[in-house]
Amino acid sequence: MKRGKIIVLSAPSGSGKSTIIGELMKRPELELQFSISATSRSPRGSEKHGREYFFLTEEEFKRRVEAGEFVEWEEVYAGVCYGTLESEVERIIGSGHNLIMDVDVKGGLNIKKRFGDDVLTLFIMPPDKATLEARLRNRGTDSEETIRKRLEKSEYEMGFAGEFDKTVVNDKLGETVEEVENAIREFVGKEKR
Ligand code: ADP
Ligand code: 5GP
Repeated sequence: MKRGKIIVLSAPSGSGKSTIIGELMKRPELELQFSISATSRSPRGSEKHGREYFFLTEEEFKRRVEAGEFVEWEEVYAGVCYGTLESEVERIIGSGHNLIMDVDVKGGLNIKKRFGDDVLTLFIMPPDKATLEARLRNRGTDSEETIRKRLEKSEYEMGFAGEFDKTVVNDKLGETVEEVENAIREFVGKEKR
């Protein structure tokens, strides 16, 4: 069976990656499956183990790093690690589905290094800083302290946009989803099954 391709969405937190992925998953013809990452943070809101993330203790996360189970991992925020499990990547692309992942900018670029031409890296840019801040607040899932940390990090992250295959500004959601969808179609359609 033909192996699937990998689509990476990276951006500062609050730029809209999860929302965009949610919309893309409603289009079965793209044959996308979401890669569930592991994280050492606790679930927030209605998040469930094995749906949004595999929620691991810090010790378990470390053990898996040492066992070589991750294709990439990063300490995205001080003391909080996130990583892509090799088993998850294999499960999805090995079954011929296209894998879509939401990872931080460094993780995204590392995936590109590792899987090369099988990867499309997309950078989702907020329209401006004030909008990013408003979206983080409206989401209502993070403390003031967390929002501050995420905003601080966003400037650094935006500096990597030029290293991605394509940047899409998430202003009007419908237009953003269309642009991302077209980029994915063009990429996965390169080699027709
Ligand atoms: P990320 O996954 O990048 O952290 P989210 O998808 O959680 O970001 O989006 C952050 C917040 O912004 C959410 O409350 C979401 O509903 C909202 N949002 C996302 N895209 C748009 C958009 N184009 N216009 C207005 N609000 C948006
Ligand atoms: P959140 O805590 O908002 O769910 O995610 C925080 C950040 O971690 C986001 O920037 C997200 O892209 C990133 N992230 C999620 N999973 C992974 C992963 O497997 N690897 C890396 N490097 N970053 C991840």
